[in-house]
Parts: sequence; C-alpha cells; structure tokens
Amino acid sequence: MSAQSYDAVVIGSGVIGSSITYELGRRGLRTLTIDRNGGAGLGSTSFSSAIVRFTYSTYPGVAMSYEGLAYWQNWREHLNADDDDDLAKFHQCGMATLKTTGGHHLKVLPHFDSIGIPYEHWDLEAFREHLPELDLRSFGPPKRPDDDDFWDDPTELLEGALFTPEAGYISDPQLAAQNLYRAATELSCEFLFNTEVVSIIQNGGRITGAQLADGTTISTPVIVNAAGPHSRVINEMAGAMEDMSIGTTPLRQEVHHVPSPAELDFEHRGFSIADDDNGIYIRPDLGNNILVGSTEPDCDPLHWVEPDYQGEINAGQWEAQVLRLNRRLPSVGVPHHKRGIVGVYDVSDDWIPIYDRTCVDGFYVAIGTSGNQFKNAGIAGYCMSELIAAVESGWDHDTDPISVTGPHTELTIDMGNFRRTRTINPDSSMSVHG
Ligand SMILES: Cc1cc2nc3c(=O)[nH]c(=O)nc-3n(C[C@H](O)[C@H](O)[C@H](O)COP(=O)(O)OP(=O)(O)OC[C@H]3O[C@@H](n4cnc5c(N)ncnc54)[C@H](O)[C@@H]3O)c2cc1C
Repeated sequence: MSAQSYDAVVIGSGVIGSSITYELGRRGLRTLTIDRNGGAGLGSTSFSSAIVRFTYSTYPGVAMSYEGLAYWQNWREHLNADDDDDLAKFHQCGMATLKTTGGHHLKVLPHFDSIGIPYEHWDLEAFREHLPELDLRSFGPPKRPDDDDFWDDPTELLEGALFTPEAGYISDPQLAAQNLYRAATELSCEFLFNTEVVSIIQNGGRITGAQLADGTTISTPVIVNAAGPHSRVINEMAGAMEDMSIGTTPLRQEVHHVPSPAELDFEHRGFSIADDDNGIYIRPDLGNNILVGSTEPDCDPLHWVEPDYQGEINAGQWEAQVLRLNRRLPSVGVPHHKRGIVGVYDVSDDWIPIYDRTCVDGFYVAIGTSGNQFKNAGIAGYCMSELIAAVESGWDHDTDPISVTGPHTELTIDMGNFRRTRTINPDSSMSVHG
C-alpha cells in the first residue's frame, strides 16, 4: 500500500466490486479495493452460472441487462486489453424461456418490444427443429423426486418458448473479475487482499475511513459496500440500515454439472433454457457438459445461511435438479459422480439489487445481487460511478433519482428502481433463471 488515504475505498473485489473500482479509476479517483480473499473474484462470483439474459420483469431490469450484454460483446475494448491477454469469453448460445401458464415471458415481452430486443416465438415444431431430444410435455408444477406424482406421464404439451438469440454465458466468471482487477491496476487502482475490513469510521454522519483487522486505519470520504453475501454485515458496521426498507440475506444455492452424451453435444447444439415448468434452468458448458441450477420452485425449501457458509452438495437437491433435467432431456441419464458447486446468493427482499447511496453520507451499496447480477457487472460498475459522482457533487438522489444513459445502447436506466427505500416491487419474479 503506497498511501493510507484514498478518494474511495471499495469493500469486495468480486465482479461487482472490481467493476466499480475500474469505473472509479477511469474517472481519475485514487481507489483502494479491500478483500478478505487472496485475489479478485474468489467469493460468490467464482460460483456463478454467469448466464447473460434479458428476461427481467421490470423495464429497468431489462434495459440494464441489455446494456450489460454490450459490455461482454466488447470486453477487450472495455478493458483496454492487449490482443494476447487471457480474457473471459462470451458464448452466445441463445436462451429459450419456456412459456408457462401466466408465465414470465408475458411480463418481459412489452419491455423487449419497447427496447427492440430481438426474439423469436418458438412453437413446438420450431423447438423440435433445434433440439428434437427435448421432451416438450408439461411436467409442472415442479415437484421433488420423492413426490408420488414426479414420474407421472403428463397429458399436456408446453405452449412453446420465447427465444432470445443474443443471450449466452461467460465460461469463466472468476477470470472476468480478474480481468477487471488487472484493468483497474493499469489505472493505478490499488488492491489489498487477505485483508478484512472490521469497522467503518464516520464523523458527523459522514464517512471518514475504514479500519482493517490488523488495526490499520484507511482514510477516505467514500466507501462502497460490494461485499456480496457479507453485505448486511458491512451495512451494520456502517450503521446504514436505518432507512433501508429492503434487506439482504445470504441464501444457499447449488448448481450441478452433468456430462452431455456425446451424440447430444449440448455444448455446441444446446442453448440455455429457463424452465419454470420443471423448476430448473440449464445452459451448455465447456467440455460438453450441462449446467443445471434451480429456479426456486415452491416445493424446494430455501436455505438461509450465514455469509461465511461453505457446504457440500446435498444428495437430495442433486437428485431433484438432475432428475428434473432428465425429464426434459431424457438422453442425459444420471451420472454416478455428483459434480457441482455450492454457492451463496446475496438475496434482497424482492430479488432486485440495491445500487444506491445510504443514510450515511459517503457510504454506498452495490448489494442484494440475488443470483442474477453477474451479467450486469460492466454496467453496474458504470452506474455506481455515475451515482457516486452525482451524489458527491451535491445531487439529491433520494428525492430526484439519477438516470444513467447506457454508453453502448443509449438506453435510460432509472436508478430509482434500485433504491434502498423502495417498496417491494410486485412485478418481481422473486426467483432467478441465472
Ligand atoms: C450459484 C450462483 C449462480 C449464479 N448464476 C448467475 C447467472 O447465471 N447470471 C448472473 O447474472 N448472475 C448469477 N449469479 C449472481 C452473480 O454471480 C453475483 O451477483 C455476483 O457474482 C456478485 O458479485 P459481488 O462482487 O457482488 O460479490 P462476491 O463475488 O461475493 O464478492 C464479494 C467480496 O467481498 C469480500 N468481503 C466480504 N466481506 C469483507 C470484509 N469485511 N472485508 C473485506 N472483504 C470482504 C469477499 O471476500 C468477496 O470476495 C450467481 C450466483 C451464484 C452464487
């Protein structure tokens, strides 16, 4: 550390904290980013399914994710990286959101139309042309394998799907955070790893610094909480919870990796599928694998955990997700070896992130990413830097929320949508498809 005083301190070097750091660095701020882990992207970011999709139920959610796509499509330019730098890759496989009764697709379509996001309505014939191996019967509502009805033969067929050809995934989410870290260090942003922030210092309701576990004090007028599942702990440290109507809580999540049969070749022929009918989302993965996650159906209990939670694959949840996958794609089979990850979401009360200032001047939050903000890392970093610049120069974001213009799409993102003081958004799906 070359100095003990900075324009801004970011707590957390996940994909969100690293992106905010990079954007603050681009504005010429002297920043220090602190992480208890030994490198960038080793927290919940490393477990991400890293699906890039636009199927959010609110206009700002759709606009932000569509702008987010442009960052991945222009990743090298965004980072100002050299041609031979090892960068996270965007795989544009497309995503089919299955149409279910009263379904999610109906919420997103008006936003797609007003923004001009390309999509196709797939009927079952179209589906069969793309991937005839799919069983297109309706299994819903989702069940657990110990339910007597789990293996029932459905009598109904699915309606079809909404296909977004521009959706995809990032094959290495941790590398994406490390790319941002490297780009930020090129701008002289400083990082401190294996270091924990244990206290936040203020004077007269204004941030003045942070204290580290070894007793060191860092002086700064601005702190950004990008601590992922530890977001609430940091908010409590700062005394910033007073006027927050939306809370954040860590939630355990499993994602499983299942080999695709060679002839299915899901890595190259497959696409992501949001399958609310069956309680799963799936996407292709490198090495001809299929990644399967949960859409939090009502029958699956939610496991709220401590922020430091580390767990192993639960045999029951593995069976539930892999057997649901087998119902949709019967040729996959059930592998002997249980492979996957156990990660933690930082879930907000309405599953929409909080990108905001707080009641403590100089203390900002980029939290509550609820298992769905990896895709938005680039634009979230930019939005936070715009917000911090506006508020620090006197803008009253609480009474007159700022709007950010997406640098690539020129879409307007109303940051009021992500305020800490909002009421729970009734349009939120309260679950994710990656
Ligand atoms: C299983 C899973 C699947 C997901 N799938 C998708 C998906 O398909 N698409 C999508 O868009 N999003 C997805 N997400 C969500 C996405 O990955 C997260 O929103 C994103 O990675 C969060 O990044 P972050 O930087 O906020 O948090 P993190 O990566 O968790 O980083 C927070 C950092 O803060 C540090 N920290 C905490 N407390 C302190 C402290 N006191 N002092 C210093 N450092 C501290 C931690 O060490 C950590 O490194 C998924 C998430 C999970 C867990």
